[in-house]
Amino acid sequence: MPTLDSIAREIRSCNRCPLHRSRQKAVPGEGNPKAEILFIGEGPGESEDKSGRPFVGEAGKFLDELLASIKIKREEVFITNVVKCRPPNNRDPLDEEVRVCTSTYLYDQIKQIEPKLIVTLGRHSMHLFFPQIRSISAVHGKAYKKAGQVYFISYHPAVALYQANLKNTLKEDFKKIPAILKEIAEG
Ligand code: URA
Repeated sequence: MPTLDSIAREIRSCNRCPLHRSRQKAVPGEGNPKAEILFIGEGPGESEDKSGRPFVGEAGKFLDELLASIKIKREEVFITNVVKCRPPNNRDPLDEEVRVCTSTYLYDQIKQIEPKLIVTLGRHSMHLFFPQIRSISAVHGKAYKKAGQVYFISYHPAVALYQANLKNTLKEDFKKIPAILKEIAEG
């Protein structure tokens, strides 16, 4: 079983899909290896591609704000993405890119971290675990249990940057996370 460090090393030199050709830096993810909460976004954007770190651009700043609003420190959680390399011009990742990347890296990261709660950020991350759910607008802010794992579905923090009304929705949804964690802990 690979460790989080060995997975990150492999990601940084990965050339399993065409995204490696246009990337500057791959973004394995970062945080507490024993995090109770694992946040999964879509894929690196421009700032992440430059720095090699997840959620450090504008969407990342809002994610930091959301975490602070529920008194969770970024270092306490683990933050990663469905695909680890930036799709050119921020296009959606292709099905094949998602398949290769998640089956090689993300599922092993989840096994290593064993989070109590996975928070999916945006529809790509939601679709990975719940392919049957058509629309995120009907299910955001809800927790679901699947094969023993609890998931919380959230809009992507970037939506708040261009749809100001969703900023509050995200804040209200995040407020539910502490109680969900507590419920999981109490079994
Ligand atoms: N958007 C994502 O989905 N992930 C990041 O790391 C940054 C922006």
